Amino acid sequence: MISSQRALVLFSGGQDSTTCLAWALSRYAQVETIGFDYGQRHAIEMTMRPLLIEKMRSMSPDWDARLGEDHVIDLSLISAISHTAMTQEIDIEMQANGLPNTFVPGRNLLFMTVAATLAYRRGLSVLVGGMCETDFSGYPDCRDDTMKSLQVTLNLGMASAFTIETPLMWLDKHATWSLARSLGGDSLVDLIRTDTHTCYLGQRGALHDWGYGCGSCPACALRARGYQQFIGK
Ligand code: ZN
Repeated sequence: MISSQRALVLFSGGQDSTTCLAWALSRYAQVETIGFDYGQRHAIEMTMRPLLIEKMRSMSPDWDARLGEDHVIDLSLISAISHTAMTQEIDIEMQANGLPNTFVPGRNLLFMTVAATLAYRRGLSVLVGGMCETDFSGYPDCRDDTMKSLQVTLNLGMASAFTIETPLMWLDKHATWSLARSLGGDSLVDLIRTDTHTCYLGQRGALHDWGYGCGSCPACALRARGYQQFIGK
């Protein structure tokens, strides 16, 4: 069943947001995408986005028909006002507050707020994000309660009726690979494996069985472990 609702997917070009895009294309009549350029070290994600979108169009005539405009927004102010291992050339380490310094304070709050501003203009009522509580680094802005609270705040502040959907919230990486296969078969799994980028250091590196990346940063380790479980190793 395809919902007549129209959705905006926060699409970074990584594994999670590509799976979210396939999820939305399998569910909503029209889907647009938004990406944020914020001076991230893994800017390679941003360069992969148009290619991923084109390849997903070619995978299914239905997806092609439903997929609308892509919007790229400059949020370089994030790297100007924060100091994190995602936006500066510093080592990834744990901070005194128990959060890794890859945490960019307020990032997902800002992303979702900017997405809602765009969705308001475009008449899109569903905001889809790849936030996940299950096996992530404990980022507080990925929590289900944060997103539910933000949905209420956005709807109060914009006198609107947005729904925030987070289809990966309770999935581990293994289940995220399985979801991709159920949505787009092996061709989607292969696309995600070879053309999405997750590595925190933004390294393309060698092609491992789980995709490209440095192979040792927390994001690569998580992706590799999930993939090994997915293929039953
Ligand atoms: Zn890496």
